[in-house]
Amino acid sequence: MSGRLTLVGAGPGDPDLITVKGLRALREADVVLYDRLASRDLLCDVPPEALLIDVGKKPKDDQTAKQDWINRLIVEHARNGKHVVRLKGGDSFVFGRGGEEIAAAVAAEIPFQVVPGVTSAIAAPASAGIPVTHRGVANAFGVFTGHEADETADTIPWAAAACIPTALFLMGVERLSGLVSKLLEHGRDPDCPAALVAHGTLPNQVVVRGTLSTIEALGAEITPPAVLIVGEVAGWQP
Ligand code: SAH
Repeated sequence: MSGRLTLVGAGPGDPDLITVKGLRALREADVVLYDRLASRDLLCDVPPEALLIDVGKKPKDDQTAKQDWINRLIVEHARNGKHVVRLKGGDSFVFGRGGEEIAAAVAAEIPFQVVPGVTSAIAAPASAGIPVTHRGVANAFGVFTGHEADETADTIPWAAAACIPTALFLMGVERLSGLVSKLLEHGRDPDCPAALVAHGTLPNQVVVRGTLSTIEALGAEITPPAVLIVGEVAGWQP
């Protein structure tokens, strides 16, 4: 069979939250390139003869070089006739650089398929009982990166984040103080409810609820990965 790429969203953490289609792809894989945030338990479903490659990016790595290396691995193995499964945390297209990987496949004329995943942006709040929309409370949500909060190349649409009913921030734990100041600077109410959900859907899930002005102190002990939720839903109780 000719080589191909399947991009699989592994889900937010709990291995049961991969899709049936994603699991099927794993069971038919020759090579699996897996991420740091994809559940290791899922690798038990890969055929024993398949090649498993840990391509997890660590925060201090040169991200561009690492992504080029991953793209090269995809192309190399698919050109050798292998079914390459790229297993990524959450959904591959939500801050997952999945687009770059299918672009590499297209450039090399490798057929590809994308299997959507359950994104942590929605699943981590859900697992804590926080709906990202709720009738009469929030009728829109936005997902933002917290990564650039304290960097000079600040491209986050802060005005939108400050006014959208529910603002969800990924990759923000280490930059909470920068995030909070930017939101306040752009007019978000300091008393607006805010919550942090760390290790969402996993047995060590931690939930902290407060307001925009208290969340940094309340979340001081929180370790990544975590989602920051800003908006009335963060204070909503069923
Ligand atoms: N593609 C992924 C996101 C990758 S960016 C997705 O769709 O979920 C990585 C960020 O996702 C982390 O910094 C954190 O903000 C969030 N994240 C991933 N897994 C998480 C989890 N189990 N609980 C809370 N946040 C998580």
